Amino acid sequence: MDQYCVMGNPVEHSKSPWIHARFAALTGEPVAYGKRLVPLDGFAAALRDFRDEGGKGCNITVPFKFEAATLLSRRTARAALAGACNTLRFDGEAVIGDNTDGIGLVNDLQRNAGVALARRDLLLVGAGGAGAGVLGPLIEARPRRVVVVNRTLEKARALVAGHATLAAANEVELQSCALAEVDGRFHVVINATASSLAGEPVPVAPSVLLPGALACDLMYGPAAQGFLDWARSHGATGRDGLGMLVEQAAEAFVFWRGVRPPSAQVLAELRAELAR
Ligand code: NAP
Repeated sequence: MDQYCVMGNPVEHSKSPWIHARFAALTGEPVAYGKRLVPLDGFAAALRDFRDEGGKGCNITVPFKFEAATLLSRRTARAALAGACNTLRFDGEAVIGDNTDGIGLVNDLQRNAGVALARRDLLLVGAGGAGAGVLGPLIEARPRRVVVVNRTLEKARALVAGHATLAAANEVELQSCALAEVDGRFHVVINATASSLAGEPVPVAPSVLLPGALACDLMYGPAAQGFLDWARSHGATGRDGLGMLVEQAAEAFVFWRGVRPPSAQVLAELRAELAR
């Protein structure tokens, strides 16, 4: 069996081992996938140890995605744009970094939720690791306009500045503004902040939602319920981050194995498993 794992702190809650076990079973790939709790000051050593033990690659979660991006031999274009990595592959001594969070979100919204992003108006709330990972692939889906807002405005501005060339190439209007100054209404609102995780209110007013909008929180599980209730009570369709989680895992599986797993099936299985 080829060894993979997710590294993070905390990591106990991670559903990635379950997801990759199902991908392996359904594709017949010889993949064994575990989880490793990494000390906050020990990420580089943990990565070296896993590679020395024969590991083939790993996923990276909070809080190591930015540090991972500094330890690479090579990176994909989307990892370079995000400045953060959630997927690493070991090719001999080389460490290749990717970021599959954004394409995972776009695939979930477009394929699983059936919402086309092209020519739509998008509001991205949050400019942390998740916001940085999803902005590039959202732009590549060629919406009409993307507005990035964040509690700390400078971070939203920096993210927008880093994606200006990509936005121009895709003819996307890209702007940033303060949380309290969002202007207009949007077809798709994405909460990429940790507000749900912290049990805090949705950081934007419901007036940002067009009737029938899709409102997606990257959080999943019971902590996402408040956001889903907020969306529904204001005429939007709510979606949690479970689909993104499975789709980013599917892209990681492709990056490692060159084989695409049946992600929609595994998402349905995981939802059923969590509802038990
Ligand atoms: P992060 O790097 O720590 O960034 C946190 C972001 O949330 C920042 O933009 C921060 O604003 C903002 N924030 C925190 N508390 C807030 C509040 N009470 N009100 C408004 N804004 C607040 O975390 P991250 O890695 O981006 O993760 C963000 C969320 O996405 C988490 O809930 C995580 O579980 C989820 N996520 C899900 C997936 C998935 O596959 N579904 C993947 C990745 C992440 P400041 O910049 O002002 O601090």
